[in-house]
Amino acid sequence: MAHHKLPQNANFHRAPRICFVPFPSPGRLIPMIDLANLFSSRGAHSTIFITRGNAARFASLVCHAAASGRRICFRLIPFPADAGIPDNLQCADTVISSRFAAAVDLLAPLISRLLDEDTPDAIISDAYLPWTAGLAAEHRIPRYSFTGTGCFALAVERALLLKRPQDRAGSDSEPFLVPGLPDLVYLTRSKIAERTQPEIQRKELTKKALESDTSTVGLVVNSFPELEPGYAEYYERETGKPVYTVGPVSLCIERREDAVERGWGPEAAQEATRVLSWLDGREPGTVVYVCFGSLYDFPAAQVRDIGMGLVDSGVPFVWVVRDDVEVEAAMEEKGLVVRGWAPQLVVLEHAAVGGLLTHCGWGTITEATAAGVPTLTWPLFGDQFYNERLVAGVVGTGATVGAEKGSVWGEEVASNGLLVGREEVAESVRWLMKGYGRGDGVELIRRKAQEMKEKARKAMAEGGSSYKNIALIMEDIWRHKLENS
Ligand code: UDP
Repeated sequence: MAHHKLPQNANFHRAPRICFVPFPSPGRLIPMIDLANLFSSRGAHSTIFITRGNAARFASLVCHAAASGRRICFRLIPFPADAGIPDNLQCADTVISSRFAAAVDLLAPLISRLLDEDTPDAIISDAYLPWTAGLAAEHRIPRYSFTGTGCFALAVERALLLKRPQDRAGSDSEPFLVPGLPDLVYLTRSKIAERTQPEIQRKELTKKALESDTSTVGLVVNSFPELEPGYAEYYERETGKPVYTVGPVSLCIERREDAVERGWGPEAAQEATRVLSWLDGREPGTVVYVCFGSLYDFPAAQVRDIGMGLVDSGVPFVWVVRDDVEVEAAMEEKGLVVRGWAPQLVVLEHAAVGGLLTHCGWGTITEATAAGVPTLTWPLFGDQFYNERLVAGVVGTGATVGAEKGSVWGEEVASNGLLVGREEVAESVRWLMKGYGRGDGVELIRRKAQEMKEKARKAMAEGGSSYKNIALIMEDIWRHKLENS
């Protein structure tokens, strides 16, 4: 990235005031709060525009950071009354409906009013809220887009939208090359995100995707160069926008209580005690942690096959299921079943945990990377198959369970099909954790996961790439301020 020198007389004494506008789904909200915390740890004033129901999930972290002298606060936004969504259902893990996405867009006038009142120096907002770019332009401040996903997935999606190799594949299962990327990346139509499928109204979509980029001054990505070698540069070349990698942002959390409550609030503490004391009783590196993120909902037959596969593997497990899911007694005996929400960060950091079975949400991938935990990948939808290709294909810190097709968010239960069977679950978990049954290579994956953990920590430490990029964004904000004054 080319960096211009600021004029000598630039006034650096006042810390930039940045407002953060998250998209309310846990996978995007959680890293955005970390990001706000990270900026405040470097002297910025961070204000998080958030609805009351969502603020409660992070109250401890933000209050503690503020009490310890950091300039970080919430600015509560009432969820628009005409959206008809109650306070406790303001996050995408509690409401799945198209009404929700439309309701989120109703926040625009409220946020515009807050910008009038607060007059921040910059906005960092979720890429899913492209209208914030327009608000930033009206208020004559720069907008940085927090992508929520990694540079690799961004690069794949852009290539699919613009070059459309998927349209030329002979069938849904015929592999095609995603053209122009730094690596040879093959996908099938059955694995690509819904919005890139051939039948989707493509012109409008491509225009929208590219437009929100044009009025944005830079991209902020929860990543670091070694995790996605060459992809930040690739995306910069393609878009002409600077890409600032600033992750893994979860590494900014210092207090254990904050890690425990992150994303769920104080009620998480009790369950965390139960999970951690169970883990304390296991040998180092013997437990597999199984979690499919905050949004999935499997049909009952698939839940059963996952559970029985885990039992058959003979490997102790911590398995997160949705809170209304029934599981069989055998499953409760052989592992620990967590209903609803697990304190994922502390689980991944626990010495007993030696592997992860994941849906490849980007938040989880970065958190597992920071903890050095090797992964088995089972993507479900959206960018998750791209993240699988990165982890299992390019970086080598994981291996695939073998899911050949994705599902559509919100329609998983209705589809009622099995994506991966009991035997495949058992076999792949046994291989990852015990190293037999599926050929060798597991040692290499473990070693790479450890190496990547060191690189992640270096990136975030003083002088590392993520550390420097936070400073560069703050400089960039000043440059815009000087130019506009
Ligand atoms: N998470 C958690 N406990 C859970 C499920 C999820 O703490 O039981 C957190 C996880 O640590 C991550 C986020 O929720 O920060 C999920 O984000 P990700 O991008 O992995 O997946 P998504 O939920 O968006 O599919």
